[in-house]
Amino acid sequence: ADTEVDLLTIGAGGGAYPAAFRLARAGARVVMVDPKGVMSGNCLYEGCVPSKAVRETAALYLDQEKFQHLGLPGRICPDYAAVVAHKDAVQNRRYAQHAAELAAVPDLRLIQGVARFIDAHTVQVHGERGDERFHCRHIIIASGSEVFVPPLPGAELALTSHDLYKPDPTLKNLPAHLVIIGGGYIGLETASFFAALGSQVTLLQKGGQVLQGMDPGMVDQLVPLLHPRIHLMMGVEVESLEATAAGKRIVHYRRDGMSAQIHADVVVLAVGRRPVLPEGLDGLGIVVDRHGISVGPDLRTQHPHIYACGDVNGRVPLFHAAVRQSLVAAHNILGGDVPMDYADFVNVPTTIFTLPAAASIGITPARAKAANIELVTGHYAFAEDSRAQILERMDGEIRLFFEPGSLRLVGAWVVGIDAGHLIGEIGMAIQGGLSAYDLARFADQHPMSAEGIGKAARSLF
Ligand code: ADP
Repeated sequence: ADTEVDLLTIGAGGGAYPAAFRLARAGARVVMVDPKGVMSGNCLYEGCVPSKAVRETAALYLDQEKFQHLGLPGRICPDYAAVVAHKDAVQNRRYAQHAAELAAVPDLRLIQGVARFIDAHTVQVHGERGDERFHCRHIIIASGSEVFVPPLPGAELALTSHDLYKPDPTLKNLPAHLVIIGGGYIGLETASFFAALGSQVTLLQKGGQVLQGMDPGMVDQLVPLLHPRIHLMMGVEVESLEATAAGKRIVHYRRDGMSAQIHADVVVLAVGRRPVLPEGLDGLGIVVDRHGISVGPDLRTQHPHIYACGDVNGRVPLFHAAVRQSLVAAHNILGGDVPMDYADFVNVPTTIFTLPAAASIGITPARAKAANIELVTGHYAFAEDSRAQILERMDGEIRLFFEPGSLRLVGAWVVGIDAGHLIGEIGMAIQGGLSAYDLARFADQHPMSAEGIGKAARSLF
């Protein structure tokens, strides 16, 4: 007989485990299924956490280079094997923490295995103890996304973010010349880290702008600040990859109608991610478009008891968005599959963790223009910021966008120092419905970069 459960989650990443814990604590019978056999999905395995472990060490090398006149030991030769060891140690530390969190909720089971649908209430799990079938009152599909590898001849000669950031990664030496195919956030971040560590980086981008989908106004602020060892080549259509006898790589491409080639020690392919759909979904009438499983802000699919959270729905493919969506689904399950909570897909802080970083949230000018909305802009340049001056990171700015009339904060970007932190504080202000008046009268701390938020608001008065 099938095992009866209240909730089964397909995946145990950010879209899954917050709901699993929430419902288990409320007394529900909950099972999570994930082939990794551990929580936190691709974020910890090959995404946000390991890439930022590399980023922050790369940033240390940059600072060391910048402040040699203070007597810090001269660079160079960052030890990439040591960087990798640090990254792996961070991953292991967090896996141990998640194991302890799971052990603290004894009734919550995580099965190492792969789940597939039999029907809208039945899920088959092929796992460590053979096959098991579950009859589920509610299901959360949170099977995430994976690296998209296009059908290019020789694509297997390139590494992907999976190979760079997974535990015990494929790449353990710093390449002298790295070619990155793709100018999305993963490609651009990776370019930043390796340039900071000492590699020459050539980034090949198909269109005329890197970070497509981000506000071009913000991208134009960021691009000139990228490390001089990064060479951006736009309008490049990669056609194939080739290996030389010496183990190097040649990338063949077309640009302006002409064929050309570029040599590399290592090629990284970063042209996007694709949702991972569990087997058996086809027969259920669940709508899938090119972004993923179609859901509204209540996270329900066409079946009110089946939810799709996180990267698999393609709405906001970021870990923290997945966590919030997972909790929304949990609340709606607790409400009997009648919506009582809704996710906000617009006001999610998004940081491009290049060196320096760029971050945005909410409605920025490009989005406003497309929707025919007017905005009032407040501005603050880090050139005048005390902390930026102390750390000699005076490039970049804070830009706040307000609704005319009410001056309610509706969006922002931050390029430069502390961008990832500042966008969070700004996001809290948006969530709280604050206006330029509220921001202007808050005495934020001196000499910290956050005082620039108030100063940007006061630029209106
Ligand atoms: P999110 O943050 O959106 O939850 P992640 O990609 O971090 O996404 O995590 C999704 C997890 O789901 C991954 O660990 C992946 O291996 C797992 N997964 C993918 N397909 C299945 C499946 N059919 N059954 C169980 N787990 C799956």
